[in-house]
Amino acid sequence: MSSSLHKPLVYIISAPSGSGKSTLVNELLKSVSDLEFSISYTTRSPRGSETNGRQYYFVSRPEFEKMTRNGDFLEHAEFDGNLYGTARRFLHEAEQSGRDLLLDIDVQGAEQIQQKLTNATSIFILPPNRKILVERLRKRGEDRDEVIQRRVAAATREIENYDRYNYILINDHLEESIEILQAIVRSERLLRAGRPLARDESKIVKLADCCRLANVRERVKPILDSFGTTDDSGDGSPS
Ligand code: ADP
Ligand code: 5GP
Repeated sequence: MSSSLHKPLVYIISAPSGSGKSTLVNELLKSVSDLEFSISYTTRSPRGSETNGRQYYFVSRPEFEKMTRNGDFLEHAEFDGNLYGTARRFLHEAEQSGRDLLLDIDVQGAEQIQQKLTNATSIFILPPNRKILVERLRKRGEDRDEVIQRRVAAATREIENYDRYNYILINDHLEESIEILQAIVRSERLLRAGRPLARDESKIVKLADCCRLANVRERVKPILDSFGTTDDSGDGSPS
């Protein structure tokens, strides 16, 4: 029925608050063509310079609940006392426009999308360690100390789910992280095109491969340790 429609690649990005996700997503959207950002709906209030229809659609809880009843959401979840949801229409629009779709959603939302769209590419962004996460949250200057403590506690729980994602990006040096994130998006496009790769294209795929789950476990271990979290993925590797 819809075989002539573009089948968008869907990229899911999740990260604990303060890891640098917004910074990386903004850079990615500037540098990669044909990639649409799915603007989520949320019941939380705008922060700082956020405006309705740019970072989020800010709606009341009754409005959000009505949308849920209407089946308007592809996924939705509660995070830190607020509701967040991805509107189905962004996927339809991506199909119509021939673009791919980028979702910035939490671990619960990622799980729902992975069940519905089994081809989605998922990326988890990690800070280099707990201390740097705290420094970044302070540097951002949006939160009081107790909010920062809450965010770090949430991060400790969220990062335990890193192994549900296809790619793990450790956001240490910003320029390098931007390059890797671009490579992941391009690599997935190249691989799904299913044609032989030129030399430059192979390099992109190789760069992205460095962040595949199977290739990062050793690098992730000290990060988990810094949060006091252990990896119970059962890969049997001695610690
Ligand atoms: P998030 O969206 O994950 O909550 P932000 O993108 O707001 O995080 O980044 C948090 C803070 O860390 C910001 O001040 C940002 O400029 C800074 N930051 C992001 N990535 C890096 C990096 N690789 N190195 C140093 N600072 C960074
Ligand atoms: P913040 O309020 O800091 O912008 O976002 C809080 C968390 O909600 C982040 O982990 C962010 O990725 C997540 N989030 C944003 N939009 C959505 C959404 O539509 N669905 C889900 N499940 N999570 C979302």
